[in-house]
Amino acid sequence: MGVKATSPPRKNGPGAATPQGREDIATAAKQGSPTRSVRRASSGRQQVPLAPASVFGPVGRRKCWWYSYRCRTCGAYLFGRARSLDTVTGERRAGCGHRVHVMAARIYDQPESGAAA
Ligand SMILES: [Zn+2]
Repeated sequence: MGVKATSPPRKNGPGAATPQGREDIATAAKQGSPTRSVRRASSGRQQVPLAPASVFGPVGRRKCWWYSYRCRTCGAYLFGRARSLDTVTGERRAGCGHRVHVMAARIYDQPESGAAA
């Protein structure tokens, strides 16, 4: 008979420290209905529909970030370019003429050495 350690170390911290920033974005994208979160805290301002975008990072000789999204108002699929990931997110007028709030929902990061054959 061996002697067993009876009390393994256990984490009992209040509200285990799980970083949640990323999870929020992921689940929001999965659910595909951001109506709930969009609805709050817009005091009187006109609401601009959120357009979750797929963003493609720069690769090879391409220096821009490309992104595609869908206009919530008319359903058109649109395409855009941005200098940096930061400038992808934000409010703008889409190609169809409607205002959209583009949000980087999915980011396709490219490998560092995109030039490698
Ligand atoms: Zn539109």
